Amino acid sequence: MINIAIDGPAGAGKSTIAKKVAAEKNYIYVDTGAMYRAMALYLLRSGIDREDAAAISAACGKPEITIEYRDGIQVVLLDGENVNEFLRTPRVSDMASRSSANPDVRAKLLELQKDLARRENVVMDGRDIGTVVLPDAQVKIFLTASVDVRADRRYRELIEKGEKADLDEIRAQIKERDERDMNRPISPLKQAEDAVLVDTSDMTIDEVVAAIMHIIEEKI
Ligand code: C5P
Repeated sequence: MINIAIDGPAGAGKSTIAKKVAAEKNYIYVDTGAMYRAMALYLLRSGIDREDAAAISAACGKPEITIEYRDGIQVVLLDGENVNEFLRTPRVSDMASRSSANPDVRAKLLELQKDLARRENVVMDGRDIGTVVLPDAQVKIFLTASVDVRADRRYRELIEKGEKADLDEIRAQIKERDERDMNRPISPLKQAEDAVLVDTSDMTIDEVVAAIMHIIEEKI
């Protein structure tokens, strides 16, 4: 199977780019952040405190999280319920960023991710795909952009959706999530030694896709 790993910080454009690359290659796009978000949603619905590591460990084995593809879109099922529409709220982002540092949460989702990549050609995005989930991926990309650019993209995304947004608040949240993702002891966000760094700060989406397609052609 061909495995393409795309890692990077929040708001670097991973999902937009990974989706387009997957469509070009006719591979499956796997959004691992959505799995951590589904777990976070389960923990929030169960009333678990975001600081209570023991309760998170005890609860995370319970839900069944599965992935399906409907019309080419990844659908995350939490105990059979399609929860896609609940995953992108600030509350879920915050809980996902905290609970993803828990070793039991990671162990559970790691298996699901590895299993998908064994069965399908995938473009998988996340934080630890090139380093931990798919260390043997044929292509590894580390996608990044300056904090200001990433915050600005998130801000415009929300405004376009007709939601309220505060640029300074978004920038602060992104910084906080990056800090947590980079400094946790297990599977921290970091560039794999054999990953190619792509800084998208001054690039359009089409330019990033073209650059990555070029890297893929060179490697496989
Ligand atoms: O990519 P996204 O913002 O949807 O990810 C939500 C959270 O899930 C991240 O802040 C990160 O803490 C966690 N995550 C992770 N490992 C991954 C993907 C996401 O720890 N492979």
